[in-house]
Amino acid sequence: MSEQQSETEHFNSSWQQQLAEAFNNIEDLCHYLHLPQDILPVSAAAGRRFPLRVPLSFAASMEKGNPHDPLLRQVLPVNDELLAHPGFSADPVGDLQAATEFGVLHKYQSRVLFINTGSCAINCRYCFRRNFPYADLQLSKQKEDAAIRYIEQNPGISEAILSGGDPLVLNDARLSRLIQQLGRIKHLKRIRIHSRLPVVLPARITEALIDTLRQSPAQIILVIHCNHANEINERVISACAALKNNGITLFNQSVLLRGVNDTAEQLCELSERLFSHGIIPYYLHLLDQAIGTGHFEVCEQEALTLMRQVQAILPGYLVPKLVKEVAGMASKQYVLNDASGYR
Ligand SMILES: *Cc1c(COP(=O)(O)O)cnc(C)c1O
Ligand code: SF4
Repeated sequence: MSEQQSETEHFNSSWQQQLAEAFNNIEDLCHYLHLPQDILPVSAAAGRRFPLRVPLSFAASMEKGNPHDPLLRQVLPVNDELLAHPGFSADPVGDLQAATEFGVLHKYQSRVLFINTGSCAINCRYCFRRNFPYADLQLSKQKEDAAIRYIEQNPGISEAILSGGDPLVLNDARLSRLIQQLGRIKHLKRIRIHSRLPVVLPARITEALIDTLRQSPAQIILVIHCNHANEINERVISACAALKNNGITLFNQSVLLRGVNDTAEQLCELSERLFSHGIIPYYLHLLDQAIGTGHFEVCEQEALTLMRQVQAILPGYLVPKLVKEVAGMASKQYVLNDASGYR
């Protein structure tokens, strides 16, 4: 069977099957990309700390033979991950532990964050979650019920955010139960889902899933996570079109990453491409300073310079908000030079 035939077959299989067949080692991925391992800074030790995991749909958008591919850089375990960087810690956001203990995180006034599962379809090297050994953690039914009661008793909460891990890794039965239960809460106006699956495993966007979302009494918002224009392949485009055609609002958030999207040109192309498929750029996050991710960092000053360039090129609605998370604050913090903006 040719490579192309077997790829077509793979993409026609169920999302669960595609997830099970995701690349899970450096050798297979390098072989697929026609890259000899000895020209890459790969590290088996880094791969043991946080395993390589990448679905074929995402890997298929990488450029074969390019050791500097911006998508490859997001998933390949490399030597730089073993370097120590001052100020980088295991849990920079500080609340992941708390969230997994209680199942919800109520930090911002009107919205509460659910940590439904620790699982993801892809292991992003820059992720703060990389230092937590909870890959298969799932919010128990009891905790989920307690979380729902908490929202019921707090009329100030107007939005529930399903996060993770990746909430779309949950099966349809689980998701549908949760969305129906949340939907019964009168004061809850919106359910927001933060997921990288529409981008890395678009097969997850099945008709059944769309039905579940469409039947929700609360408005559904889906925030996808895409860092580079090349991630938006034809499978991603179809999945997003199906969501959009069924009344689901789509936003995107990215992380500003050295060697991936750290030029104004790349950021502009990403925004343009997202919007051409009906997805609105929402946030551009500064990196959370998690151990093993220092080589991805772009400092605030440089980020501001980039945003100034992007703002000079794009219409305002295509400029994502540059933000960072600061422990103890009432919302995410806009990164600005002064009150007037990026200037
Ligand atoms: C990011 C985040 C939210 C959502 O914030 P928005 O600014 O509304 O996107 C909510 N709760 C927590 C704990 C968060 O980290
Ligand atoms: S939580 Fe998001 S960024 Fe982190 S590994 Fe999962 S998909 Fe990637």
